[in-house]
Amino acid sequence: MNLHEYQARDLLRAAGIPVPAGEVADTPERAGEIAAGLGGRVVIKAQVHAGGRGKAGGVKLASGRAEAMKAAGAILGMKVKGLTVTKVLVAPAAEISSESYVGLLLDRETQRPVFMVSPAGGVDIEEVAATAPEKITRVAVDLRYGLLAHQALGLALRLYDDFPRARTAAGILQQLYRVFVENGAQLAEINPLVTTPDGQVLALDAKVVIDDNELDRRPDLAALRDESAEAPAEVAARRAGLTFIKLDGNVGCVVNGAGLAMATMDLVKFYGGEPANFLDIGGSSNPEKVVNALRIITSDPNVRAILFNIFGGITRTDDVANGIVTAMGRFKVELPVVIRLTGTNETEAVRILEGVGMRALADMDEAVKQAVALARGAAA
Ligand code: GDP
Ligand code: MN
Repeated sequence: MNLHEYQARDLLRAAGIPVPAGEVADTPERAGEIAAGLGGRVVIKAQVHAGGRGKAGGVKLASGRAEAMKAAGAILGMKVKGLTVTKVLVAPAAEISSESYVGLLLDRETQRPVFMVSPAGGVDIEEVAATAPEKITRVAVDLRYGLLAHQALGLALRLYDDFPRARTAAGILQQLYRVFVENGAQLAEINPLVTTPDGQVLALDAKVVIDDNELDRRPDLAALRDESAEAPAEVAARRAGLTFIKLDGNVGCVVNGAGLAMATMDLVKFYGGEPANFLDIGGSSNPEKVVNALRIITSDPNVRAILFNIFGGITRTDDVANGIVTAMGRFKVELPVVIRLTGTNETEAVRILEGVGMRALADMDEAVKQAVALARGAAA
């Protein structure tokens, strides 16, 4: 789950990291009021789940109420990477001497949190990795011991030559590690971590992604979810109890079981197609899930064909067939549909589908080939 910058800043601040105070506004008037209350120069920042806001014009400096209102007016309603801005953060602006990057992410390969730091901050770390990889230093942390003092100082000395700043930064790295572990994060990032002319080290941006598996036992974190900022299809899927990830292809996939869903996507690609989504309807026998799945997939304008791949075990294929028939009756599905089902109650399932003039295949390769061809034909 992505947090907004202002929420991530609160987590960092609670761990003791120096982050300028700020408040959130959803109108230019409110932004003006906050700016007037803070006094001096402020920074107004779009709150969306996307980086690169600076480049997109979503971060502006302003002085005083009128300027702040104008800046907030320009940012509210704008789009950053396709996401509409409905909230801005208003915070006192810092004077910047240097910008560096500090990040901590879960590395699945080493199964450890890995720190990445770079003195080249303020820009996307992907850009630094591509153009000047030698400027990035990585250290994997052993979860049994946490970030050791010498590791923290070693990383900090890659950012700053002078010892007082490096010591401060080392402390911030330790605190960031605590934020990561204590909140079940899969990513915690400060970009930029800045130095000011008077020698302070401050976090001016914060990004935290919480592992979804953490949310059941952390209602306080779960409450931070902002559904208005998430992809509508993913919100609908979560509410319907479906595991859904939107992708960029045109073959909509409805599959039961995560493993089969992955295999289906692989096969779609193998036959020259591109999956429009990952979707696992789960193991339960509930026709309503199929209805919801179809509604979500058909609302994606990229989808040109729909592929069902159902292996009946606990999932009863006749229930899935009933779900398909119910969905077709409730809303018009204009797209070609290819159904492959086999397993529990398949004879019954085939009978149900044939009753409404649909047919089902038993062979997975054949079904995937057909769906890819139909998607290509309809897309041409
Ligand atoms: P991002 O582009 O989405 O990562 O947004 P950031 O919060 O990182 O802001 C982008 C850039 O705006 C930073 O790298 C800074 O150069 C600048 N910026 C952000 N906050 C301040 C501030 O308080 N003072 C000044 N002078 N610049 C800032
Ligand atoms: Mn940033």
